[in-house]
Amino acid sequence: VIEIRNLHKSYGELEVLRGVDITAPAGHVVSLIGSSGSGKSTLLRCANLLEDSQQGEILFKGEPVLWKGSGMARRPADAKQVLRIRTNLSMVFQQFNLWAHMTILQNVMEAPVTVLGRDRGEVEQSARRYLAKVGIGDKCDAWPAQLSGGQQQRAAIARALCMEPQALLFDEPTSALDPELEQEVVKVIKDLANEGRTMLIVTHDMKLAADVSDHVVFLHQGLIEEQGAPDAVFGAPKSERLRGFLSATR
Ligand code: ATP
Ligand code: MG
Repeated sequence: VIEIRNLHKSYGELEVLRGVDITAPAGHVVSLIGSSGSGKSTLLRCANLLEDSQQGEILFKGEPVLWKGSGMARRPADAKQVLRIRTNLSMVFQQFNLWAHMTILQNVMEAPVTVLGRDRGEVEQSARRYLAKVGIGDKCDAWPAQLSGGQQQRAAIARALCMEPQALLFDEPTSALDPELEQEVVKVIKDLANEGRTMLIVTHDMKLAADVSDHVVFLHQGLIEEQGAPDAVFGAPKSERLRGFLSATR
């Protein structure tokens, strides 16, 4: 679904991504691991055009995202394209970012209704269905502040699903949660993986990455240091840096 080729991203002098290639084929789960500052969040943000980039290609369903300008002045070619990519690559953040002044149901319905202009009645039906699916069907009328962290994150996942995206992008979806609450969210992510959802997951949870991924990518200082099937990456890491990283996270 999403293919990133030779992506370069700098903030001023700081080169954060130095030529990264990642493909998330339909139905596959790709996990991105690596130490703090290695560029994982930046990569996800570039993938759904929350950030521009200086060089490289992004293909969505085989079609290249077009750019105008070059280098630091490079921008996605048009707003329609940006909307299409953001709608189809729905992102779930570490901090769930629910709107505090809206109920859980309104939170989930907001973007499909106002951004995509879909029928309110239909969106409400699917919003209720997704909230039930993530196990909080009884919280439709609650306010975000009345939910636990795990419930809020599951609401954020329902909100992403309600966009009917082609792929989900997760940025450390469990790292703001206490261990018990973390498991509720892990279970939802595992269910989505079993359903064959296409996902790109940044995580510090090596067990989650090992359990759900088809492919694991280890990023080091903006470059892919090692990648492969989870058995290989976790069971027989080749690079010294990856071995060091894994022993530090255990
Ligand atoms: P973490 O595991 O801590 O979330 P990460 O791998 O997600 O780390 P990024 O957030 O992608 O890392 O950041 C990579 C580098 O880019 C860091 O050195 C960071 O300071 C820098 N960076 C990120 N966003 C910006 C920004 N908006 N302006 C300047 N520098 C930035
Ligand atoms: Mg990050």
